[in-house]
Amino acid sequence: MSYTVLARKYRPKKLSELFGQENLVQTLKNAIEINRVHHAFIFTGTRGVGKTTTARILALSLNCTGKDGSGKETVDPCLECDSCKDILSFRHPDVIEIDAASNTGVDSARDIIESSKYPPMVGRYKIYIIDEVHMLSKSAFNALLKTLEEPHSFIKFIFATTEFNKIPITISSRCQKFFLQNLTQDELFANLQSITSRENISCGEEVLRQIAKMARGSARDSLSILDQAISLSQDGKIDIKIIEDMTKCGNLSFGEEILSHIFDANLQEALNTSENAIQSGIGISGILSDMIEIIAKMMHSICTKTDEKEVAKLLEKLKSSDNFSVQILDRMYQVILNSSHFAQNINEKSVLDTLIIRLSYIQKIPSIDDLVSSLIKEN
Ligand SMILES: [Zn+2]
Repeated sequence: MSYTVLARKYRPKKLSELFGQENLVQTLKNAIEINRVHHAFIFTGTRGVGKTTTARILALSLNCTGKDGSGKETVDPCLECDSCKDILSFRHPDVIEIDAASNTGVDSARDIIESSKYPPMVGRYKIYIIDEVHMLSKSAFNALLKTLEEPHSFIKFIFATTEFNKIPITISSRCQKFFLQNLTQDELFANLQSITSRENISCGEEVLRQIAKMARGSARDSLSILDQAISLSQDGKIDIKIIEDMTKCGNLSFGEEILSHIFDANLQEALNTSENAIQSGIGISGILSDMIEIIAKMMHSICTKTDEKEVAKLLEKLKSSDNFSVQILDRMYQVILNSSHFAQNINEKSVLDTLIIRLSYIQKIPSIDDLVSSLIKEN
């Protein structure tokens, strides 16, 4: 039998199985129970926190017919009726999933609008799940707007995005918005513990705590790392050595490790870490948002003169380098942010490697302040 990756095998299928998103779960439950479900939603949050999972759960809840076919919208879909089965296997004719990253143009928006005129074929609702919706072009958004303004009662739109600020206000103001939270290390740990026990995987608390830390708030990333650790283990036993070998630097996340090598001016080690990071199954957007978060914390710590324990070691390294300034961190921040816009469309490894090389050079470029003062001196 082929191996199903853990993130897919244990993907929540009901609102009650979603964890770490209490407000969202309660609001959707209430709406379904009193049958007042909004016609358009935006789920936003970082990668792997459950945006498309929640969208599919909503589709199950809205179209489930119950085992005997007489059911109504429900917070507890049966997962056994034809509708549930078809949604779970991605072949329900009325639950249409579109990846806006590869369908950005106005033509795909027109297709949606055209097909949304017709009632659902078999389901109660026709549900459009549009992932990475911020990637749609301006004209595609404009084309969608009309449908959002005057929707048929049988249409539901569910938009998922990591970049809420790129969605036109005309669109977002017509949607019910949910900001999905990053999961805490304790929540990720509890989830990993429950899954390893169901999978009969033997590993200690230390291992799971470390994976929870490395995943930086993403359930999907935590399970990808666990999958990778399982593939490296023998006899289903994962010891901390396996996890340490995966990150080389032991208790650092990949983002921390890459930055640490860059501050040490060790380009080769930074590139090696990039290789390990991509192989671990953490998507590049996870690694980049990790790096962005770390640099933001470092800048905050320097500018407010407060202690940020999490970045103290990196700050020490940076301060001991010849060319230290907040401007360097600021430039690094901008460069990483720019890379994150390309991350989804180009080879992940080449984006990350090129970024690392650019970051290494930034450290060597003198700051504007230094340039100005050297010019003043020369004159
Ligand atoms: Zn069902």
